[in-house]
Amino acid sequence: MRHIAIIGSGPSGFYAAEAALKAFGDEVAIDILDRLPTPYGLIRAGVAPDHQSIKAVSRRYEAVARDPRVAFIGNVEVGRDIGLAELRTLYDDVVLAVGAPEDRRLGIPGEELPGVFGSGAFVGWYNGHPDCAGLAPPLDAAGVAVIGNGNVAIDCARVLAKTVAELAESDIAGHALKALERSAVRDIHILGRRGPYQASFTLKEVGELGELERATPVVRPADLPDPAGDAALETGHRRVVEVLRRFAAAGPDPEKPVRIHFAFFHRPVRILGTDRVEGVEVALTRVDEAGNATDTGETRILPCGLVIAAIGYRTLPLEGAAFDARAGRFANADGRIDAGLWCVGWAKRGPSGTIGTNRPDGFAVIDRIRAEGAPAAGRPGRAGLLAALAGRGVRPTSFADWEAIDRAEVAAARPGAPREKIVEMAALRALCGA
Ligand code: NAP
Repeated sequence: MRHIAIIGSGPSGFYAAEAALKAFGDEVAIDILDRLPTPYGLIRAGVAPDHQSIKAVSRRYEAVARDPRVAFIGNVEVGRDIGLAELRTLYDDVVLAVGAPEDRRLGIPGEELPGVFGSGAFVGWYNGHPDCAGLAPPLDAAGVAVIGNGNVAIDCARVLAKTVAELAESDIAGHALKALERSAVRDIHILGRRGPYQASFTLKEVGELGELERATPVVRPADLPDPAGDAALETGHRRVVEVLRRFAAAGPDPEKPVRIHFAFFHRPVRILGTDRVEGVEVALTRVDEAGNATDTGETRILPCGLVIAAIGYRTLPLEGAAFDARAGRFANADGRIDAGLWCVGWAKRGPSGTIGTNRPDGFAVIDRIRAEGAPAAGRPGRAGLLAALAGRGVRPTSFADWEAIDRAEVAAARPGAPREKIVEMAALRALCGA
């Protein structure tokens, strides 16, 4: 019997579990640990609440969790409730699937001002992550700056721009919906330090900004490069640029009160304000053939009461696992950190790719584990973990506990919504009797 502990119950953890079930058949026992009593990681707390079709992948994870060879063990934080070194004595293999929960920092003056948030915190707020439920981002000023030209920046801008009716069928947290209902936000600036050719948006995400009820995209025609260059772009990206050209040609819809400005060639250099954020100073840039940005010498001030830095994430270091501080993820060779210690997903390769990217990634790491040969017999696995936790008064939660939370959330849903998320740890634990 091979005992595998997977730390983290997001997509990368579940794909690794699915792969291990296929690879080891009846000769495996898999424990998926999470510090929350709720599974699914980024599916629950990262994927935008109005992208329910993406969230549907959790059905697949549910089937894995219900497999008799698998146990979901929630409410257990590795590094606090049990150390990694101890865990490695209990299991043959430990797979770190902890994602990249820490926001990358801008590293510019003013970043500490109230009203400046990383996208992880802001997304966690509207998605009802217990750590971020109390964030209270200020929505009382007309301007918002969302820094970054990736899909997370678009998610943040779109959620800020939508009407309550447009969010009715989403699972946005109730506190966020209430706050957005009273929002004074009118001008959402998506800041890219480079241009449309370098943006990492994808087609569906950009396209959606042209279909909003009360918000209209604004693209300056002068920011678009000579169309002759489009042919050299990869197909997906060429279509993104085509949508941006369409937005520029159409101009903003004057009937719509909210504008989403694509502020290309805007490199933030300073956050302005005294007691709270009042604006962002940007250096205007130009981009050379190789895609490198240089400042033109011109600057601009964008007034705003909220800044969201959607510029990527870092994995949190964990005592006992080699860490690559520069890259912000575990130091690993194709997922191997050390004998019997592995990593998958964003914790392995950094914060890139879609949910689906984690599947081949998880399968590849499990292949490597299999290639190491059969484990030496005698590790206690789950029984050892549960005994250790009981000895220190930690109350783990089960998948059945999550199902009770799930039922309670579904029962409390607003009309049309799939669920009303429970956002306080105490309330989640109470439903589990933990
Ligand atoms: P991303 O795609 O890597 O975008 C990060 C952006 O931040 C880039 O535009 C980058 O610009 C910019 N940036 C980095 N440091 C900066 C700085 N100091 N100042 C200004 N700008 C800076 O990352 P993401 O948006 O966080 O998304 C993470 C992954 O999740 C991506 O693979 C994304 O596609 C995926 N995702 C997918 C969906 C979806 O499919 N619906 C939704 C959300 C996220 P440079 O290019 O100039 O470095």
